[in-house]
Amino acid sequence: MEKIEIPPNETEDLFNKLASQGQGRGYFLNHNEKIAKSLCEALLKNKKRYGHQLCPCRLSTGSREGDLDVICPCDYRDPDLLEYGVCYCGLYVTKKVFTEKIPTKPVPERRPNKETRLINKQKYMEEKNQPKDINNLPYPVMRCSVCGYICARAEAPEVCPICGASHDRFQRFI
Ligand code: SF4
Repeated sequence: MEKIEIPPNETEDLFNKLASQGQGRGYFLNHNEKIAKSLCEALLKNKKRYGHQLCPCRLSTGSREGDLDVICPCDYRDPDLLEYGVCYCGLYVTKKVFTEKIPTKPVPERRPNKETRLINKQKYMEEKNQPKDINNLPYPVMRCSVCGYICARAEAPEVCPICGASHDRFQRFI
């Protein structure tokens, strides 16, 4: 594999960007800066290698389409943060883990295997243009009671990414 060098200032810039963008939205970088920066460097290498910021802890399928769910931030970050307080790679942690400097532990892989991902994709393509039954949606719809931000996901986020209200200010909307 071709060796890619990333100038230290580029890693530092990405680290600072992700840290400042994330905090107001409830996403914190690992308090262990060494880990966070090495993951930022790996993201930049992947961007150069594949053309997109592939998760540093997962293998590329060889196409952006096949990698879509694991372009950082991946589809699995938020469920991992809610369940374990840290994402699969350890780049993102919750506010509690960050402020209390709780040591992070390995997180089990929740990404479905290739076959399941293909089946899910086919199902999505088949259902994409079908009218939706509002009483039978694939995810509950949550509403932030402070600003009205709406999201469809298994659990409300830890912090509203728009107004910063906490998890317990969300109510089930549909
Ligand atoms: S596991 Fe973490 S570092 Fe990897 S893609 Fe997901 S959010 Fe990014």
